[in-house]
Amino acid sequence: MSTKTELLQELFPEDILKVSSQLTEGEVKFLKQLDDLLESKYREGINQHWVDATVPEGFFEDMGKLNYFSNPLLFEGREGAKMPSHLYQFFFSYVLARFDVSLVTLLGVHQGLGHNSFLFGGSKEQVAHYIPKLQSHELRTCFALTEPNHGSDVAGGLETTARRDGDKWILNGAKRWIGGATVADVIPVYAVDVETGKPKGFIVRPDQEGVTMDVIQNKIALRIVPNANIQLKDVVVEEADRLQNINGFKDIAKVLYSTRAGVSYMATGALAGALRATTKYVNERKQFGKEISNYQLVQEKLAMMQGNLTHAIALNAQLARMQEEGDYDEVATSTAKMMNSLRLRESVAMGRGLAGGNGIVVDYDIARFFSDAEAVYTYEGTHEVNALVIGRSITGKSAFV
Ligand SMILES: Cc1cc2nc3c(=O)[nH]c(=O)nc-3n(C[C@H](O)[C@H](O)[C@H](O)COP(=O)(O)OP(=O)(O)OC[C@H]3O[C@@H](n4cnc5c(N)ncnc54)[C@H](O)[C@@H]3O)c2cc1C
Repeated sequence: MSTKTELLQELFPEDILKVSSQLTEGEVKFLKQLDDLLESKYREGINQHWVDATVPEGFFEDMGKLNYFSNPLLFEGREGAKMPSHLYQFFFSYVLARFDVSLVTLLGVHQGLGHNSFLFGGSKEQVAHYIPKLQSHELRTCFALTEPNHGSDVAGGLETTARRDGDKWILNGAKRWIGGATVADVIPVYAVDVETGKPKGFIVRPDQEGVTMDVIQNKIALRIVPNANIQLKDVVVEEADRLQNINGFKDIAKVLYSTRAGVSYMATGALAGALRATTKYVNERKQFGKEISNYQLVQEKLAMMQGNLTHAIALNAQLARMQEEGDYDEVATSTAKMMNSLRLRESVAMGRGLAGGNGIVVDYDIARFFSDAEAVYTYEGTHEVNALVIGRSITGKSAFV
């Protein structure tokens, strides 16, 4: 049996500040199981799934079986807590993203934005009914906010409408980019109440009358994630299927802020994945008679990638500490998302360069991280939108419009 120190050395050799040593023994054991599963079952096919734009069979079921949010290993020393530690949540996203950014995104949208729409937006009864099923993956969900004409300005710009008709609501409109919608059982759809002008949340099922979907084709990033366009034409939703605690954009913002840290964690894992793939490549590729890892200019780029990774890990460690204490600070979260996505984007470009021509061939892994970084840079608040959140806090002036 390996000790915690041995397991950490195997799992996170790139964590030079040893932030991962603050994980509990149970958490480390669990993360090792996750890493082993990814490597043994999914490594071989991952690049082909990316090319073919297909979700690996069994992935959701395996994640459900792992019990990644309520496994007893995650609660050693924190018995009675409602969720596992934030430091574990960081490293859980990190391990998955280091393997593949589509898989962590699919899970993130289910467990983060989707799950939290029900958790924060649902009534007591809705929470009791849906949360256990979502956590065990008996039901899959997603998050339908963005629209064809409204991305960054979605807070004031929703065009999808909800009209009350007795104890029913009639939804009309369109959604775009909805990750995992085609494989979801229940979709939280956000729409504006025509009477009050305020957004509300509705539980829509993909097979309902009036719901049509098509998957966005020809993406250059996160090809494994099916991102859907959804059309809603006179879709009838019972009042009982309205998320009772979503009564304004501030309620939706709470869901968004609860998961933005997760994207900062994913960006960091993806950076680690790019560093691993690049290191492997430069240790094998020979030019001028030697492996190219012998050359100073190559080592400088690896060092920059490692430096970016170390910054990102340190930022996440403090963010996780704050969130553990209940401090979900908006500016800290936006700063981590903005900076870690930027560092990821810089780093994958260095990795891609170090792999030469093979850096644009998916088989070498680096191209997958390079492309996927573009999506991470844009979703959960673009670089500019997060910069505007930070700018507002520095100047006291909102510069969004
Ligand atoms: C892979 C992927 C998955 C996604 N998954 C989901 C999902 O599951 N559910 C969901 O609801 N949404 C999802 N989204 C949508 C995502 O949140 C939006 O793409 C994002 O909010 C940006 O919106 P947009 O693409 O319409 O860009 P736009 O808002 O049109 O922005 C275009 C450019 O203009 C800039 N810009 C906009 N306004 C300003 C301003 N005031 N000042 C300066 N610059 C500005 C932006 O920063 C950006 O560079 C996903 C997107 C992607 C790419």
